[in-house]
Amino acid sequence: MKFVADTMLGKLAKWLRILGYDTLYQSYYRPGVIDRVMKEDRFLLSRHKETVDQYTNALLLDAGRVGEQLSDLKRAIPLKPDQSNWFSRCLICNTLLKEAKEDKAQGNIPEYVFYQNIKGIRFCPSCGRYYWPGSHRTKMMDQLREWGFIR
Ligand SMILES: [Zn+2]
Repeated sequence: MKFVADTMLGKLAKWLRILGYDTLYQSYYRPGVIDRVMKEDRFLLSRHKETVDQYTNALLLDAGRVGEQLSDLKRAIPLKPDQSNWFSRCLICNTLLKEAKEDKAQGNIPEYVFYQNIKGIRFCPSCGRYYWPGSHRTKMMDQLREWGFIR
């Protein structure tokens, strides 16, 4: 399942990426861009009825809060995110993360992380951002549990 999230759905796009879904998102789409990416067999999520009406694989999201948007999405399509894919994508640019090489990671992440979690450090080959398991991720897991993604 691949998504394209329309403008105003940046937070939802981030959470779908956390759950491992390939999710395109831009805060602005030039005319024709959504048309083009919908040919990649994506599912469109939008807050604009006029946009949703143009496609068959599309869902209108009325809710303003990301938690409600996710539960509306779960009600509309069978969303069963595979936990082994969680935290596998860059939250900023959607690229699949890669294992970070030890020598490259050092200097790009806080020193304490480097010494504690060297196994879990990944980086985005596209934008260069580094990711590691830590308190930030624990908070995300708590949120996913609250939304019913973890039983
Ligand atoms: Zn990136």
